[in-house]
Amino acid sequence: MKFIFIFLIILELSLRRSSHSLILKTGVPTKDEIMQNLPTANIQCPYCWETIEVLVDCSVERQEYIEDCSVCCRPITIIVESSDGDVVNIESRTEDE
Ligand SMILES: [Zn+2]
Repeated sequence: MKFIFIFLIILELSLRRSSHSLILKTGVPTKDEIMQNLPTANIQCPYCWETIEVLVDCSVERQEYIEDCSVCCRPITIIVESSDGDVVNIESRTEDE
């Protein structure tokens, strides 16, 4: 009975250790780190025509998303086309365009 108890402790310790090293190995970046690595691009708001700076995710070739204008707070549809991690084209439209 005592032997089984010790065995379980050892098993638990080794499991903890392996899960710990797994976290270190993967090194999952925090949300802040991802944000800092994103390039920025200037777009013109289709509502108030102010130039605003937006973060662009170049990991996808073509993507469309909605971001609120930092000046007038209205939703801008942003279409980003990228190639090899660089922005090749960026468009801003009104939400229903
Ligand atoms: Zn605006």
